[in-house]
Amino acid sequence: MDDSVGHHCGLAGVYNVPDAAARCYLGLFALQHRGQESAGIAVSDGKNLNVKKSMGLVTEVFRPKDFEELHGHIGVGHVRYSTTGSSRLVNVQPLVIDTAHGLIAVAHNGNLVNAKTLRDEFEAHGSIFQTSTDSEVIVHLLARPEHAGYERGLLQSLPRILGAYSFIFMTHDKLIAARDPQGFRPLVLGRIAVPGHLKSIGEGWMVASETCALDQAGAVFEREIEPGELLIIDAEGVRSKRFAEPKPAHCMFEHVYFARPDSMIFGDYVHQIRLKLGEKLAQEHPVKADVVIGVPDSGNVAAQGFARASGIPFDFGFIRSHYVGRSFIKPDQLEREKVVDMKFNAVRSVVDGKRVVVVDDSLVRGTTFRRQAKLLRQAGATEIHLRISCPPTKHACYYGIDFLSRGELIAGKLKSVEAIREYLNIESLGYVSEEGLLSVVSRPGSHYCTACWNGKYPVHPVDVMDKLGMEKC
Ligand code: SF4
Repeated sequence: MDDSVGHHCGLAGVYNVPDAAARCYLGLFALQHRGQESAGIAVSDGKNLNVKKSMGLVTEVFRPKDFEELHGHIGVGHVRYSTTGSSRLVNVQPLVIDTAHGLIAVAHNGNLVNAKTLRDEFEAHGSIFQTSTDSEVIVHLLARPEHAGYERGLLQSLPRILGAYSFIFMTHDKLIAARDPQGFRPLVLGRIAVPGHLKSIGEGWMVASETCALDQAGAVFEREIEPGELLIIDAEGVRSKRFAEPKPAHCMFEHVYFARPDSMIFGDYVHQIRLKLGEKLAQEHPVKADVVIGVPDSGNVAAQGFARASGIPFDFGFIRSHYVGRSFIKPDQLEREKVVDMKFNAVRSVVDGKRVVVVDDSLVRGTTFRRQAKLLRQAGATEIHLRISCPPTKHACYYGIDFLSRGELIAGKLKSVEAIREYLNIESLGYVSEEGLLSVVSRPGSHYCTACWNGKYPVHPVDVMDKLGMEKC
């Protein structure tokens, strides 16, 4: 509807806490920014699995009476933004599937790039799929009778799937986490110390997409799940196994835009990275101006970095309404402008008569900022200088981020920064360089995926399809 990039999914799982469903709920609530289409929680009391899931936000899906029914000390939860498979109830996770080894609940964040190939192969051998998601492929791999149990099954199956996956699995007595060899999406382990846990089955643990979920659910960060690692948590303790050599290619867009600023991912605090990106922008694209403002909410931190490095004062030049409905009718161009106007307003007292630097984290279609620039002019801005805290986004993402196709991306369509500036009708435009982007993280630049900016894909996309590519009807 607007110019933003689709988020993907968020995961939260707990082991050996008396209120597993409530802890998952808290974790999912903190991860709501990663997916707003649906939410679900499955729990186990050691014998039976129980699940509640539906379309909607976490607070819409769960009611107090649900927690009376979701009894258990092991749990796994999921919030979804659909990147493969349509947004409908059958695709809502966790998927709970009956296999020869018993019931298993699966929650997945990421996008598999060979899911269709595998699915076609399984269907040719008689498998019947219940959903149109890529996530179900792993369940069919696991269900094969030659695997003696889930642990061995996962060690043998995971190397067959390609692309981005952070998984949390739950069986009646185990919580199992796995992360792809590239570690595209974040996945962290935390320790939960609560009274009432069952001493006979070890300590309390939590696995989640981001550390903000650990904070919210009362867990203490222990470490990241490593790329290519399978982590099994059960009565024997926490056991780590490796199913593939790590080849890190963390999604750099997590730092730029997706992850919550209060999270720590890939060894760095997101807030600090965004501040440094703002500083880098000020060094690479200096400009004479009177005030620096951010496009709320995610552009604000980089804007503060820009202000700090340039000496130009920071202020809040846009107000964003958080109450625009998600189910707004798909707009034509005129309505799109109305939506932007409903969402944002310029603060006249901040920008009137001023040369304004605006900092945003990404420029996708360009239509939203074109409108925002008009709002700033109407409020009296004399010059508008846009600074973007990542390089021009020119290529599609196959690893779970719902970008537009290249033809819709403004930097894919218009060949030069100057042409984009002209289209936006502003005085200047500057993007952080790729070198600048990678200079702010503490891990080597080679450990990050930057494919949407340079087209260098760390894992070859075997099945190129849109998100409905596995729909049967
Ligand atoms: S292509 Fe871009 S959005 Fe996708 S994983 Fe790589 S860095 Fe992230």
